Amino acid sequence: MVSVSSKDFIYKTFHDFYTSDTFFPPSISRFNEREIGFFLLKNRIMIRHKRFQTIEDLTSFFKNNVPSDVYRSCAYYEYPAAEMAKKGWIGSDLVFDIDADHISNSCDKIHDKWFCLICGFQGKGVTPKECPLCGGKKLNNKTWPCESCLDSAKEETKKLISFLELDFGFSKTELRTFFSGHRGYHVHVENSAVETLDTLARKEIADYITGVGVMGKGTKKDHRDLPLSNFGWDKRLKEGLCAFLSEATKKDLEIAGITTNRDAILTKKELILERCVIKGKWDGIFGLKDGTWSQLLRHVKSIESSQIDTVVTTDVHRLIRMNNTLHGKTGFKKVEFPVKLIDSFDPFKEAVAFNGGNVRVCVSDAPLFRIGENMFGPYKNQEVELSIAAAVLLICKERAELVKNKNV
Ligand SMILES: [Zn+2]
Ligand SMILES: [Zn+2]
Repeated sequence: MVSVSSKDFIYKTFHDFYTSDTFFPPSISRFNEREIGFFLLKNRIMIRHKRFQTIEDLTSFFKNNVPSDVYRSCAYYEYPAAEMAKKGWIGSDLVFDIDADHISNSCDKIHDKWFCLICGFQGKGVTPKECPLCGGKKLNNKTWPCESCLDSAKEETKKLISFLELDFGFSKTELRTFFSGHRGYHVHVENSAVETLDTLARKEIADYITGVGVMGKGTKKDHRDLPLSNFGWDKRLKEGLCAFLSEATKKDLEIAGITTNRDAILTKKELILERCVIKGKWDGIFGLKDGTWSQLLRHVKSIESSQIDTVVTTDVHRLIRMNNTLHGKTGFKKVEFPVKLIDSFDPFKEAVAFNGGNVRVCVSDAPLFRIGENMFGPYKNQEVELSIAAAVLLICKERAELVKNKNV
């Protein structure tokens, strides 16, 4: 539980942000056809089915009501403020969400914890779908917007962009890329060709990007038709196999699930690459089984696919965080950046919403982290003086409380 003084501090900083000229109203296409939703800092109630005529109306609402989180629909409606069945769905952007919560990382066991609200069982790392002890589905977690997790999310985003550009033929100008303000990235396709796609069509796109069905149906006979062509997934499998095998060690093969013939694969690496990658055909190499080829491709598929949250992409009524607004779990902004600048995009610099200030907080537990050029932590049960951005992050993540003193 966050203390009253910490809550007041967050309210004041969020209010200051929305009333200052560092807040730029977002640019949202077909704004008055969108449903808008909020969580307000005052009562933590979700308010949705709102429509605003202009961005100016929206920003004055922010100033008067101070939301912790702001969302807008990916869809366009005739009546955005009506109840769901009466909204008059016109279409929806094609939206992708990549969240570190769904990506397994070596560091998540260090900074992420989860616990079951039913039986109290707890663990470290990625939150499971259900409690391994009681099977309950009510699980709470404590995660961290970690630099290395966000780097992995960025890699997944780059793979997604590659699918959208090379396999689906969208140009960079049709894609909008955002840092979510917490642990991931969003990619929006705004284009009349995708607007009216139904859930099923969106599911097919999501399946393609996650590689569902690429290796057949997972039966004993699963295989890829041969020879591999130079298009789509075939091309990705070939290039991926080439990249993987060229660098592979015995340990890598073990991780790839290759149980036998590891030495043979390594000694015949060149021959495999020539036969499979250049000819696209598994002709059979003495000492290697067909199953080995399938297992190698299955592994390469898992490397080459992009780990998008498919639920978000297939939901044609989805609300998604509004760009330029603050994320209630971090105090960072959701920010847009040009697709072509993804490599140099630094979320811990460009999403920072607060400048200066020094406040004293009592930190229960925080890993080493960076904001802009400054490093902080790790902290454990200690009182420290921090910049506003760092203090807001720790309080929002429920890892620190404001310390009341004469200057506050
Ligand atoms: Zn449980
Ligand atoms: Zn991490």
